[in-house]
Amino acid sequence: MKNFFLKHARSGQLNWAATLFLIFMPFIAIVGSIYAIELEGFSWAPWVWAFIFYYVTVMAISGGYHRLYSHRAFKANKFTELMYLLWGAASFEFSVLEWARKHRRHHAKVDTVDDPYDINGGFWWAHMGWMMVKEDPKYQTGYPKDLLNNKLVMWQHKNYNMIALVMCFMLPTAIGFFYDLPISFFFIASLLRIIFVHHVTYFINSLCHMVGTRPYTEENSARDSHILALLTCGEGYHNYHHKFQSDYRNGPMWHNYDPSKWFIYFLSLFGFTYDLKAMPSSEIRKAMLKKQKLSVLDKLKAKNIDTSALEQMYEKAQEAQKKFYALKKEYKLKKKELTLEGEQKLAQMKANIKQAKMELKEAYNEFKESLRNLSIQAQMA
Ligand SMILES: [Zn+2]
Ligand SMILES: [Zn+2]
Repeated sequence: MKNFFLKHARSGQLNWAATLFLIFMPFIAIVGSIYAIELEGFSWAPWVWAFIFYYVTVMAISGGYHRLYSHRAFKANKFTELMYLLWGAASFEFSVLEWARKHRRHHAKVDTVDDPYDINGGFWWAHMGWMMVKEDPKYQTGYPKDLLNNKLVMWQHKNYNMIALVMCFMLPTAIGFFYDLPISFFFIASLLRIIFVHHVTYFINSLCHMVGTRPYTEENSARDSHILALLTCGEGYHNYHHKFQSDYRNGPMWHNYDPSKWFIYFLSLFGFTYDLKAMPSSEIRKAMLKKQKLSVLDKLKAKNIDTSALEQMYEKAQEAQKKFYALKKEYKLKKKELTLEGEQKLAQMKANIKQAKMELKEAYNEFKESLRNLSIQAQMA
C-alpha cells in the first residue's frame, strides 16, 4: 500500500476530495451521532431505519450495480432497474456507469497493476487507498457500450448528484421529521449508515482477496468468506464469483447465505427479472474437483510420490463426462424430430445414457477415493 500510495501521491495525483471524505467522514458521523443523541435523546428509531437503509442499499449494490449491470447475470424490467439505480445511488458509491466500468476492469485484470483495487498493494490500498488517488487517464475511456446505450443508466449518471442528495441524505432526514428526530436520522440513518455500507462493500475488494477459502480456483486471489457474505447480502462468496462471474448467484449452494440471489429469483417468478444465468452444477463440481486435484498433485509432487495413476483416473472421469454430455445432447436433438422408428432409437439412446451416467459416477468415485487416499498419504509422507 505504502509504495502504491506514495507513487501516486508524489506524482501529484492525490484525489483530495475523496481522501478527506474517506478519512474525516467516519469521525464526523460518530461525533455527530453522539451530539444528536444528546440533543434529541436516545431512540431506537434511527437505528432501525439505519439498518433498513443499510440492507436495501447493499442489496441494490449487490443485485443491481454488481450482478445486473457489471456482469449482466440476468435481465430486469424497467421498474426493477429504476429501483436498483435509485437505491444503489443511496449507497453513495458513484453512478453505476463509473462503478461497473472499474469493476469490469477488476475482473479482466485481477491481481495485476491494471486492476484498480489490486490486492498486491496490500489491505489498505485495495480497501480504500485506490480511491484516494486520481485514476490514470488511460483507463478513463473504457465505458461499457451496453451501459452507454441504457437510457436509465445514463439518466442516473447525468443526475447522480441530485439523486444521491435525495436518496442518501434528504430521504432519511425527512423520515426523521415524522419521529421528531431529524438530526439523529441525519447522522445515524444517513451518514453513519453510509460509512458502514462503504466499508462493508470495500471489504469485498480487500478482505475477500485475502481471507477465506478457495474451493473453486486458485488462479487468482479471490476468496470465499461466510462472514463477509453475511454482511454483504451474499457477495462474500468471491472465489466462486471470480470463477463464474456471469452467474446471478455468488453463493451457488443451497446453504450459502445469498439473499441477493433469492431476491433476484423471487422477482423472476413475477417477471420482474428474467434470463437468469446459472452455471450447471456439473460444471461447478468439475471446477471444485479440478482445484482439489491440483492442490493434491502439488503436495504429492513436492514429496516425490508418483501421481500418474491419479492423473489417469482424472482423464478417465473427464472422458466419461464428455461421453455422458454428448449422448444427452444427441438425445435432446433427436427427441425434437420424433417418428415411430425414431422412438425405438430413442429408447436405445436412453439406455445408453443411463449406462454412461453409471460409468461417469463410477469413474468419478474411483478418482475421488484415490484423491482422498493420496491426500492422506501426502500429509503423512
Ligand atoms: Zn464482480
Ligand atoms: Zn474481486
